[in-house]
Amino acid sequence: MVEATRLFDSFGRIHDNLRISVTDRCNIRCFYCMPETDAPFVARGEILSFEEIERFVRIAARLGITKLRVTGGEPLVRKDLPVLIRMLRSIEGICDIALTTNGVLLAPQAEELYEAGLRRINVHLDTLDRQRFVKITRRDELDKVLEGIEVCRRMGYSPIKINAVAVKNLVEPDIVPLARFGRDHNIEVRYIEFMPLDARGLWRRDKVLLADDIIRMLTEGIGPLVEVPGRDPSAPALEYRFADGIGRIGFIASVSRPFCLNCNRIRLTADGKLRYCLFAIDETDIKTLLRSGAPDEEIARSIRSTVADKWEGHEINSSRFVAPPRPMYSIGG
Ligand code: SAM
Ligand code: SF4
Repeated sequence: MVEATRLFDSFGRIHDNLRISVTDRCNIRCFYCMPETDAPFVARGEILSFEEIERFVRIAARLGITKLRVTGGEPLVRKDLPVLIRMLRSIEGICDIALTTNGVLLAPQAEELYEAGLRRINVHLDTLDRQRFVKITRRDELDKVLEGIEVCRRMGYSPIKINAVAVKNLVEPDIVPLARFGRDHNIEVRYIEFMPLDARGLWRRDKVLLADDIIRMLTEGIGPLVEVPGRDPSAPALEYRFADGIGRIGFIASVSRPFCLNCNRIRLTADGKLRYCLFAIDETDIKTLLRSGAPDEEIARSIRSTVADKWEGHEINSSRFVAPPRPMYSIGG
């Protein structure tokens, strides 16, 4: 029986949030995440089965994990995802499940996912401009993403959020139109500062469109923003709303305003490695434990010690920063 102690790290942060990557494969090729060609993928047999993920989550839930986010790669390319959502929903202690998707396969899967119990969804969309969409993702799939969002809206998914990656000298023309789209459709738009997790080492600090610049652009283009009071301190996004009361905006400002101090997250990669940080260099091999017949208590110990070893925070803004050996699609964003 797993002893139910919560997941504290050595800085006193309690971890209740697990992000699960269900695949490293993807149906588009965003340049800040994947290489255009020859992306190396993990062999299928190395990807955790639904049963293995479920067992891990059961153990983690006994240690105080209550919130899950399913991600990838592109989670909707994993066959039968609604089956996994159902399995995870029925785990005692799990009270919240969300999905992060690029939206390309959302329209045909939205209903089954809803029936499986999914309600919270983040759709990755950087631009409403078809040409820029193709430039960023190297695929011509904007219409499918927009259709996916519309289907989810009609079905009553809530909240629906848009994740937009903020790359300087590229997406400036998209900032205001995306926020307007969010205001028109009651969808929060979250701008995510470009992070050093691309597959080709393209990142530089001067390629990041910073939250402050976006706030200025939105204020000039739409109207003043006010910070939303009383937000959850462990939530990564800075939350704003427009002063006229229409529309919410979030910022994941990992570069200009790191939120490590309040981080409550751990991550399980598709190939069964546990990570205490998106930028971690070290990871814990859970898959081998799962496949070698380790008892629950041993896996729980492994989770506890991974969290206990967590560093204070990433050092993107320091000369000491070393990018992790895996790009975003392989870690699970
Ligand atoms: N394929 C899904 C998607 O695109 O939403 C889920 C996985 S993707 C890795 C998760 C999120 O990571 C995306 O929503 C995207 O906004 C973000 N992302 C990917 N590469 C990034 C980068 N280099 N910097 C900042 N955010 C990034
Ligand atoms: Fe695929 Fe998401 Fe990475 Fe884009 S950000 S390449 S959609 S995994």
